[in-house]
Amino acid sequence: MEFNGILVVSYIIATILFILALGGLSNQETARRGNWYGIVGMAIALLATVWGIVTQAYAELLVALLIGGTIGLIAARRVQMTQMPELVAILHSLVGLAAVAVGFANFMDPERLSRYAGVALTIHDIETYLGILIGAVTFSGSVIAFGKLSGRIGGKPLILPARHWLNLLLLLGAIWYGYGFVEQSAAGGGMTPLIIMTVIALLFGIHMVMAIGGADMPVVVSMLNSYSGWAASATGFMLGNDLLIVTGALVGSSGAILSYIMCRAMNRKFLAVIAGGFGTSEGTQLAGGEDQGEVVPISPEDTADLLLGAREVMIIPGYGMAVAQAQHIVHELTQALREKKINVRFGIHPVAGRMPGHMNVLLAEAKVPYDIVYEMDEINDDFPDVDVSIVIGANDIVNPSALEDPNGPIGGMPVLECWKGKTTIVLKRSMATGYAGVQNPLFFKENTRMLFGDAKDSLDAVFKAL
Ligand code: NDP
Repeated sequence: MEFNGILVVSYIIATILFILALGGLSNQETARRGNWYGIVGMAIALLATVWGIVTQAYAELLVALLIGGTIGLIAARRVQMTQMPELVAILHSLVGLAAVAVGFANFMDPERLSRYAGVALTIHDIETYLGILIGAVTFSGSVIAFGKLSGRIGGKPLILPARHWLNLLLLLGAIWYGYGFVEQSAAGGGMTPLIIMTVIALLFGIHMVMAIGGADMPVVVSMLNSYSGWAASATGFMLGNDLLIVTGALVGSSGAILSYIMCRAMNRKFLAVIAGGFGTSEGTQLAGGEDQGEVVPISPEDTADLLLGAREVMIIPGYGMAVAQAQHIVHELTQALREKKINVRFGIHPVAGRMPGHMNVLLAEAKVPYDIVYEMDEINDDFPDVDVSIVIGANDIVNPSALEDPNGPIGGMPVLECWKGKTTIVLKRSMATGYAGVQNPLFFKENTRMLFGDAKDSLDAVFKAL
């Protein structure tokens, strides 16, 4: 009893810390503190569970903790900032896999039928079924998302004929076998429908993410984040663990809110994204773009001159800034310009980079002051007053065709309208397309200059020239 009391109190403290963590993470200035709340909350939750719930097999548990902890530590230390989205996707897959494994273990528990009977058994079976179902979808979907984000699988959406019917069939199959599972489970069986449903759910996860085009991947990443939370929550119900229910619900609902924000940022309807089919091929080399007009290159020295003559400068970072690790030189350049009384601001597109908040993390790491970093909505109307916009390794998020070609892969997505300013300088290595694989008419505009090369090298040269 005393144990139980301490367990409950520890779980409540952990829950409060998780809520504080989410609150902290919603703001850049408090994000570090938020992370600490999360770390302490998780440590308390783990200790309380090991101490209060586990009653045997401590040695195996310790070995598992050591192996898992070591792999996690090594992976997190080794991962490059550009590989972060892939790491997040593969971690989601582990949550899904854990939910499936715990579900099966729970179902195979020999004492299950003596512990539950009647309605309680039916409810418990439904919890198990749902936990495995959501877990399996999360697992296979996240593995495919990992493949797509790391470039191992092409960004082109896989459009099977009659795919909506196929999805419907899979859903009906899952419901049908769910019914069979609950029926058979009471009689001591149920393994066959459970396995068949798991296969269906795995196929559904693969099909769902394969059908989604490159440009819509941000929604998928946040959606899988949400699913992993619901899978954990269902597992919490199955195990009767309140903390897991609450934590899962926190992850599930914050992931759902993030999906909504991402959909709004891309001007997409959630169901339309899930139905898939947007986006074309991945970053391909353009033949030359003859039909688009001339591309005008610029040197680092001329870029420095343009910047020195400017009053208002807008910096637009994208995925290429992360690849080049150019955030530190961006900060130095910003400082140098501000010392010369030039107003420098940053315009951040909600889907810039490869994960939500990617650019904010990089700029915070480089210690760029928060008060000059603006979201797209806050500064998009200011471009007519901007003298020089510097687009650093961004492409899709400054693509005018999003507005001009509503039927294109990124059609309808709001973008940073830098071409409305006096001059735009685009830093990239070639004429290759961005993640969505769409040509970018911005590069051919009269007031655009291309500074070719690795963004960090180019900015180093501009800084020297300044
Ligand atoms: P993009 O992928 O559209 O463009 C990045 C550009 O950076 C490329 O065109 C590339 O051109 C350039 N680049 C790459 N490496 C370097 C380098 N070392 N130096 C200079 N330039 C470099 O990125 P954006 O940020 O503009 O847009 C994000 C895209 O990713 C959107 O389509 C979004 O939907 C998608 N996405 C976003 C996610 C999110 O959560 N934020 C998740 C998944 C996808 P080049 O090769 O010529 O150098």
